[in-house]
Amino acid sequence: MAFQLTPLPYPADALDPAISAETLSFHHGKHHQAYLDKMNAAIEGTDHANKPLRDIIAAARGSNQGLFNNSAQTWNHGFYWHSMAPSATAPSDDLKAKIDDAFGSLDNLKQQLKDRGAGHFASGWVWLAEKGGKLSIEETHDADTLADSDFNPLLVLDVWEHAYYLDHQNKRPSYLDAVVENKLNLGFASENLARGTVWNYA
Ligand code: MN
Repeated sequence: MAFQLTPLPYPADALDPAISAETLSFHHGKHHQAYLDKMNAAIEGTDHANKPLRDIIAAARGSNQGLFNNSAQTWNHGFYWHSMAPSATAPSDDLKAKIDDAFGSLDNLKQQLKDRGAGHFASGWVWLAEKGGKLSIEETHDADTLADSDFNPLLVLDVWEHAYYLDHQNKRPSYLDAVVENKLNLGFASENLARGTVWNYA
């Protein structure tokens, strides 16, 4: 069965001015849709057709670059929409304690997310992730993902230019500052931490 484009969990203008409705409409309706369509075309009639998305990503990694790119980008974007909220949400007590342990404070985590995102060369993703009870910031390049890794990804920031260029032009730090300070969905990160298993695309 073909995968469906997951709806945005908020109206397209809900992240404005950090991310405009125009950017979000293109990013979700064109970019995410295109990755999904190419993945669906690649798996149709194959052994992959009825697998969960993360199994497709894992199977394609290292063996089928086109399918890997499109399946990983499908998962990454579904996860990214939930990593933001119209108003920033608070971490659970458990997540807050782990943030303090790993980064010293929530403000330090935010600064490090912004610094790592700004410093990431070219296209990719910046993650807050958990492994063995410890939090860390991870970076992946291009389509690469933590979906099939031994990390539990808690939230992600898209640092491809298409995520911010219409609103912030080349100023990636301006996009990261607006999202990290005002739109970060630490409630979603808390749910992922509490579940203890990797988020499922659906
Ligand atoms: Mn993107």
